[in-house]
Amino acid sequence: MSTVQTKKSVSFEDTSVAFAHQSDSKLRKTYLIFAMMNQNWLVKIGTFFIKIAIRLGLPIKFLIKNTLFEQFCGGESIETCQKAIDNLAKAHVGTILDYSVEGEDNEKDFDKTTQELLLTINKSASQQANIPFSVFKVSGIGSVELLEKVQEHPEDLTPEDNAVFDRVKARVARLCEEASRLNVRLFFDAEESWIQDVIDQLCYDMMAKHNVKGKTIVYNTYQLYRWESYENLIASCDKARKGGYTVGAKLVRGAYIEKERRRAFEMNYRDPIHNNKQETDEDFDKAVVYAIDNLDVLSICMGTHNENSCHLCMKLMAEKGIANDDKRVWFAQLLGMSDNISYNLANAGYNVAKYVPYGPVEAVMPYLFRRAEENSSIAGQSSREFLLVKREIERRKAKNC
Ligand SMILES: Cc1cc2nc3c(=O)[nH]c(=O)nc-3n(C[C@H](O)[C@H](O)[C@H](O)COP(=O)(O)OP(=O)(O)OC[C@H]3O[C@@H](n4cnc5c(N)ncnc54)[C@H](O)[C@@H]3O)c2cc1C
Repeated sequence: MSTVQTKKSVSFEDTSVAFAHQSDSKLRKTYLIFAMMNQNWLVKIGTFFIKIAIRLGLPIKFLIKNTLFEQFCGGESIETCQKAIDNLAKAHVGTILDYSVEGEDNEKDFDKTTQELLLTINKSASQQANIPFSVFKVSGIGSVELLEKVQEHPEDLTPEDNAVFDRVKARVARLCEEASRLNVRLFFDAEESWIQDVIDQLCYDMMAKHNVKGKTIVYNTYQLYRWESYENLIASCDKARKGGYTVGAKLVRGAYIEKERRRAFEMNYRDPIHNNKQETDEDFDKAVVYAIDNLDVLSICMGTHNENSCHLCMKLMAEKGIANDDKRVWFAQLLGMSDNISYNLANAGYNVAKYVPYGPVEAVMPYLFRRAEENSSIAGQSSREFLLVKREIERRKAKNC
């Protein structure tokens, strides 16, 4: 539960707005997909067999492409995402093209990914109203092993390591320069704590360079499940004020909780994550309050599916007389999830965008498995998405009776 009382100015229960973009047949398909994902055992067995089938080279691409991929991804390439971009735009929801190929680990791949990211930035520049942000992960353009060494054992870096790290810095600089040149806002996604200090430093250097003259181009991501993040947000704003630039901040809770806890336990250091969900929620709320109070130096994107957090942000904006469509405040969700939030916010005139993951079906499988797990039932409780889709089908049936 959110810690601050919120005024429910927009209803996230309105499924007629949330699913207006889906025909009856598309909605039935969405229902079937969520109904399957709602079965915990099916997700576990399904994931297991899909992994084996891929390894054996069995032809299951068609099946995945027409179910999970269609639900959570925009297409296999930038071009094939155009339909998703147009569909979202019809409801005034923006697209954030997210090149979701994972597990690259050599210099050639990192250069290739950089080229692909430059294309997403250019695509955004060519359709700024519909594609308001670009995004990337530093681990997509540099080796995690190296980033970890830079952060945790800088004294062990060899001249070769330094040369490789210089190339990572050059790729980051290239992306930010292109974004700045084309006036496209660019998110640095947040990652695991053992490489995040390096990502932060790269990002802050770019903010100081590009977030000047009234433009906020570079956005860092603050994971409020980390007990240090709230103070980091304040410190980065203080520094920016002194340095005469602005801060872009994507506020999220954080996605790597199990990994973080496991590593902290195994390596015997203090867990970087809050003790419980409530502490995370409290810090997220505090960050939203701080952000809305400091929009002179901050632009934010609320990267969340938490309805209370969105209500809190809306309430604070109303109290401060900040227009719903103020360009410094955005909301973002993932494609195929929390349409009740995205479409109802957009319907009320707020700035909203969806991450639209894309890439070859085989390459985005890890992303799809994570979404399937996230939407499976927890302790016998159906997922929110499943219940909302079901309710909309029932509403349409009742209307047609
Ligand atoms: C547009 C967008 C962009 C995103 N970008 C990033 C990113 O760059 N980096 C990143 O790491 N994640 C990112 N995420 C994922 C995000 O961090 C969350 O994992 C996800 O959105 C769920 O959190 P929530 O606020 O939506 O909702 P909620 O369901 O309210 O919160 C779930 C979250 O609460 C936290 N939590 C749960 N249990 C506990 C516990 N016991 N103790 C402490 N904390 C707990 C975890 O962070 C968990 O993910 C992004 C999400 C969106 C929608």
